[in-house]
Amino acid sequence: MRSSLRWPPSLIAKWFFLLVLFVGVVSTSLLCTSDACASELHRTSGVLGEGTSWSIPWYSIESDEDGPTVLVTGGMHGNEPAGSAAAGQIRHWNIARGKLVVIPSLNRLGLDAEMRWFPVHRNDRSLRDLNRNFPKLENLQPRTLLCETVWEFVESERPDFVFDLHEGFDFPTSNSKSVGSSVIFSPSDEQHHLAQKMLDAVNETVDDDTRRFVPLSRNGAAQGSLVRACADVLGVRSFILETTFKEQPLSFRTFQHRVMVSTALKEIGLLDSDSTDRMTSSLEHHRLSVGLFDAAGTTAKGLKNVSQSFDSEEFELVRIGPHDLSASTLSQFDVLIFPGGSGSRQGRAIGSDGREAIRKFVKDGGGVIGICAGAYLCSAHYDWSLHIINTSVFNETIEIPGVGRKSMWYRGGPSDVEMELTSEGEEIFSQSNRLDVRYQNGPIMDVGPDDHLPEWTPLAWFRSEVVRYEPQEGTMIDSPAIIAAPFGNGRVMCISPHPEATPGLENIITEAVKWSAQRDGSHTASEPDSQLEEASTSPAQE
Ligand SMILES: [Zn+2]
Repeated sequence: MRSSLRWPPSLIAKWFFLLVLFVGVVSTSLLCTSDACASELHRTSGVLGEGTSWSIPWYSIESDEDGPTVLVTGGMHGNEPAGSAAAGQIRHWNIARGKLVVIPSLNRLGLDAEMRWFPVHRNDRSLRDLNRNFPKLENLQPRTLLCETVWEFVESERPDFVFDLHEGFDFPTSNSKSVGSSVIFSPSDEQHHLAQKMLDAVNETVDDDTRRFVPLSRNGAAQGSLVRACADVLGVRSFILETTFKEQPLSFRTFQHRVMVSTALKEIGLLDSDSTDRMTSSLEHHRLSVGLFDAAGTTAKGLKNVSQSFDSEEFELVRIGPHDLSASTLSQFDVLIFPGGSGSRQGRAIGSDGREAIRKFVKDGGGVIGICAGAYLCSAHYDWSLHIINTSVFNETIEIPGVGRKSMWYRGGPSDVEMELTSEGEEIFSQSNRLDVRYQNGPIMDVGPDDHLPEWTPLAWFRSEVVRYEPQEGTMIDSPAIIAAPFGNGRVMCISPHPEATPGLENIITEAVKWSAQRDGSHTASEPDSQLEEASTSPAQE
């Protein structure tokens, strides 16, 4: 299965490069005992361009069963996050044979800056697009040190197949200027067969015909792109896989990338079974796996604020959507977060099967955090809510003379309110007990109707309030701002305001995750939670 390679002219340079390349490489092996992978897997990782500002991590999984070598890359363009996210998940897959090499974030600096270009050369039109500076048949020398380093690595790995994951800005069925939702490859019978398999599988995820994936093979990948270089210079079967970022959540586009790559790897023989559902690592127990719901009823700003709170190696933050709510997928997470936006839209997008799956996830020991809209979602108040904590919310529709019928959840735009932590809250969040916090129509919570649910504990109270309509006066002040309760073996925390959008309070979300995951050091999953069992739920009692 090996392709012929053109070795660089100087073997000395090559060996020197390999010596530099493999300094600091981390290697682990594991015996995979499931039927799906009876062979031993060797996991290795390292860094390309170590010591540079743009250094790039890579990961490899090698089976002791012979098979082809596959390279999966993502994040070449920094404004196309789904390819990078998917590659970062694919690196956790257990292969049955061969070798899987993954570079999830080729343009790590661009991804951080959400910029298409390579920031180091952002002002040089000829160098700023990494995917135009790999070797061309008429000029085999890669341009930019990054492309040269990546190319040397690709040559040393000798892949049989390459999949480079990208995103387009629109659907090609309605906008011919975009290559979104497509598989791009150079025409040949074998490539066409594999492309068609990926297209058939990913189009199963598409309900709307205008969003169907299409093959783009007439011109192949652009000159100077990694995929074109692999095809032309190394003779490797190479594909660009494109999703579309217009109007689709990141979790869905990432899912579509996983569908395409899993389908291809099964066809090639690296996988024996579908691995689309595999999103996190079961190896890295020192990290907490956090699923952040990003589909209907969420906002880009809210998601960004929550994500920024998790800028730490302690956490593996993964976007999830309604298609990720199977038991096997949820079992890979310690905690799920439902952020601000619209609780009813989130609840309806999740659907009754999804709600049941989330309830089971918590019963089995998982954690759920609801922030603002997410706290409405967790409540026991609505037919679309999760009923995992016994809250009702103040949300009547009231006829106001001279104003009309108004729903009481709405109190206007964002504003700052005063919040006081309880002693339990101070202990969990390590914050001083009186804080100003951003608030935007979060639930005014009270004891709900499901008395079979455990009692909840207030962790913070509102000490000021926001009022838009007269009947709201006095309903928010001294009501609970943050509450927590057990549910089965798991834990639920509802946060009405937005600490993640309040400078200095971001750690409230990360501490909430540790508490919900029962990794806060004070409890273990098997111990009864005396702190919560003894708690009072009356807002009047502090
Ligand atoms: Zn791209």
